[in-house]
Amino acid sequence: MLEQPYEYTARALVEPDWRRLPGFADVTAQQWRSAQWQRAHCVKDVRQLQRVYGDLLDGSFYADVAADQAGRATMSLLLPPQMLNTMVPAAVPDTAAMRADPVRRYMLPVASDRLPGAAASHPCAVRDSLHEHEMWAVEGLTHRYPTKVLAELLATCPQYCGHCTRMDLVGNSTPAVAKLRFAAKPAERHAAMLDYLRATPSVRDVVVSGGDVANLPFGTLEAFVSALLQIESVRDVRLASKALMGLPQHWLQDDVVAGMTRLAATARQRGVSLAVHTHVNAAQQVTPLVAEAVRAMLAAGVRDVRNQGVLLRGVNTTAPALLDLCFALLDGAGVTPYYLYLCDVVPGAEHWRVSLAEGQTLQADLMGYLPGFATPRVVCDVPYVGKRWVHQVAEYDRERGISYWTPTHPTGIAPADDGARARRCTYYDPVHTLPESGRAWWRARQGDPVAAGRAAAASRVASLAD
Ligand code: SF4
Repeated sequence: MLEQPYEYTARALVEPDWRRLPGFADVTAQQWRSAQWQRAHCVKDVRQLQRVYGDLLDGSFYADVAADQAGRATMSLLLPPQMLNTMVPAAVPDTAAMRADPVRRYMLPVASDRLPGAAASHPCAVRDSLHEHEMWAVEGLTHRYPTKVLAELLATCPQYCGHCTRMDLVGNSTPAVAKLRFAAKPAERHAAMLDYLRATPSVRDVVVSGGDVANLPFGTLEAFVSALLQIESVRDVRLASKALMGLPQHWLQDDVVAGMTRLAATARQRGVSLAVHTHVNAAQQVTPLVAEAVRAMLAAGVRDVRNQGVLLRGVNTTAPALLDLCFALLDGAGVTPYYLYLCDVVPGAEHWRVSLAEGQTLQADLMGYLPGFATPRVVCDVPYVGKRWVHQVAEYDRERGISYWTPTHPTGIAPADDGARARRCTYYDPVHTLPESGRAWWRARQGDPVAAGRAAAASRVASLAD
């Protein structure tokens, strides 16, 4: 019999023992289960990180974290103890193990992980790379697809991910990125969003996001979702929360479970599908506590809990790592693997990103192991186009790493004669993955990203980069 590239074995989830970390040595199980305790003991800077790990990690590691925060980091540090505890889960961490750990690599970035100098960012990398702000129908409500909207209710999360695509807006400013701030007050913005949706019956699907809805007072979230459920045209509501994994304690609180039970009952009564979407990138992050929180949501009556992961080099970009993740989610926690995104072309992300070709290979390698409904689609979120399956590319210049995509619809707020379908839009592979001729082509344009973007676009059909 031929050898299988991936050998499936059922694995039990493991909650790593937090007492192996000096700073959590005396923390009781009751404290650990408390969302309040978790939030109060988040690591927000290197000093607090040192308090958790003490002498387990070298000074060089702490200096590397500090250098990243002072230099290229687009997101500030924010790590709940639950998230930290999933790094090097099976041993007492040392510096080498921390440096190599997949969760550390994306949740606790260090300067030495990034590519040096200008290579750290793609020449065409931009803040708000998906141009969501341009598609705000009202502040924070992105109307990009004909029938779907994204409602950014807030701009904070209980944890900050190094590669965040909304680095423009989400979290605290860093030396590299002064964050934008919403102009209107939250209550005014939420009301304006609801007014827009009441007046726009072509929208049937609302992603309620941020940021992370776990940072909203539950009463505010419940009021917003309840109002959505009163709108006749809304048929799908999806709540986005990475905290379901990063801070499951939040979703296990009695008032949250009770509130979700009320919302799910109303949704069911109205025939609306209420789901929770989360963001898990590594199998070791799916712990028994995460599974308990997911099951609490399913028991509360939400239709499904789905995962939207991001392909990140050094974290999960092998088929075995992705299959381990998918089986941990599906078998261990009852989460449906849904999407795996190519990382967006934001500043400082080149060391994480993979090429479209690598994404296509990973999609092929995942086929046949999972049930069809739980086989994640590897997608590219193409600016001005939307999410597209990686094999839907219209044209692909492998030498320069430029893929061309054709919009199938105008954005939700585009004028009728926008001509979107005639355009092609672009996505860029990381330059360091290209053959030498392609790298040389980009080097000649380095330092002038606008010219680089224009040159890339002009070499085929006009793109919106012009
Ligand atoms: S949880 Fe989502 S929105 Fe928040 S920092 Fe991470 S990727 Fe960004």
